[in-house]
Amino acid sequence: MIDTGHPPEQMRFQLSLRRRGISDARVLRAMEEVPRDRFVDPTDRGYAWRDSALPISCGQTISQPFVVAYMTEQLQLEPSHRVLELGTGSGYQAAVLAKLVRGVLSVERYRTLAETARARLEGLGLYNVEVMLGDGLDLGSNLGVFDRIIVTAAVETLPQSLIDRLDDGGILIAPVGPHHGVQTLIRMRKSGGTIERRELVAVRFVPALPGIAREL
Ligand code: SAH
Repeated sequence: MIDTGHPPEQMRFQLSLRRRGISDARVLRAMEEVPRDRFVDPTDRGYAWRDSALPISCGQTISQPFVVAYMTEQLQLEPSHRVLELGTGSGYQAAVLAKLVRGVLSVERYRTLAETARARLEGLGLYNVEVMLGDGLDLGSNLGVFDRIIVTAAVETLPQSLIDRLDDGGILIAPVGPHHGVQTLIRMRKSGGTIERRELVAVRFVPALPGIAREL
């Protein structure tokens, strides 16, 4: 047998992403390089390479790998890009993004999650990600604009404050729909003052809630 250096479950993981239609070689490589087992609760390590969402602290979830790969592919990233993520959670999606672009700013409303994710990302040597404790639904113009925005918590409507953070020519992707139900992944492209909106697939994300969480 040829030894690829990857345990069988990681090989199955890659294969399932390809089979489900992820074809961008850079995205597949980033998914291969980020050790998902470092982003799940220690008790869930055995499930890390399965294609399913898993619970993390603060009642939140780490997204399903296929959805992470799909959203990343739909962002059409270039190495020069600066990306904004709303909803750091475990930091897994931020790590995948960090492999592909110049800089990532990821915003999280739970202090515990932000601190854990920050430590994990640093531990992996991903110094081009900044994790910020804050409310991603209420970002100030002092942050400037981003080439790409990815929202990884469900919004009932897209807040204008977020659309305003998207540069001209930029792409924003977000799950839009009811908080406790099925949302539609929306891809929005800004170009020359016009906004083009496309509905992609049905997804399920935990809700985006306003303000910094009062609990840890
Ligand atoms: N991208 C994450 C999964 C996100 S789960 C990963 O790869 O693991 C959604 C996250 O969004 C949760 O951690 C939740 O606390 C956070 N969130 C919800 N509303 C938010 C808001 N207004 N601002 C910042 N983060 C928010």
